[in-house]
Amino acid sequence: MTEVLSLEHVSKVYPGGVRALDDVSLSVHTGELLAIVGPSGSGKSTLLHLMGTLDRPSSGVVRIDGRVASALPDRRLSALRARRIGFVFQQFHLAEGLSAVENVATGLLYAGIPRRRRKSLATAALERVGLAHRTGHRPHELSGGERQRVAIARALVNDPAIVLADEPTGSLDTRTGHAVLDLLRALNASGTTVAVITHDLQIAAALPRRVSVLDGRIQGVSV
Ligand code: ADP
Repeated sequence: MTEVLSLEHVSKVYPGGVRALDDVSLSVHTGELLAIVGPSGSGKSTLLHLMGTLDRPSSGVVRIDGRVASALPDRRLSALRARRIGFVFQQFHLAEGLSAVENVATGLLYAGIPRRRRKSLATAALERVGLAHRTGHRPHELSGGERQRVAIARALVNDPAIVLADEPTGSLDTRTGHAVLDLLRALNASGTTVAVITHDLQIAAALPRRVSVLDGRIQGVSV
């Protein structure tokens, strides 16, 4: 299986001396669905930021598609991130003034795709998440679960190597949360690589591979 993302002996020390990650090595392969699970303060957000190339390690190497991300200058790193990584956040982060299809199309802004093509790709991504009937709705006209589906469509629209989902069910009630997890599972079954970051052991238990993090270190991997 092809490796899409890896961390090799990665540490992150914040100014002030907090060692949020300590010698973490992890590899994610094409087609995987994994949970990164740990309690508050264990280093999950830091790990997500490094996996998503939003931040750089203090030491160690982060690779995306085999390329050493941590060695790229900022502009090339932003381009790599825009093309290869999709993000889903707990709070959805949708633009209020934009319709669902326009929100999804923002996932293509840095991909150099002409406007009309962006719209058709965004519509197709909304179909994949079961929202073909909501393309013109603005976020305030959608339920929490529907908003998260729009955010997932935006993460998918550029066909990324990996989708990083940070507590994707954290703002949803239990039933809606399960539906969002089912969607992530279905997308994974059709080939999308997904990493879900969560503090919730039940959510982690529902995913095929779990990487547990504690005090900035990987405690174990279970499959
Ligand atoms: P989690 O997402 O699991 O709650 P974090 O990655 O946010 O964990 O935090 C890990 C550790 O790093 C914590 O001790 C936290 O206080 C610290 N930390 C996180 N971000 C910063 C920062 N920007 N500056 C200093 N310390 C930080």
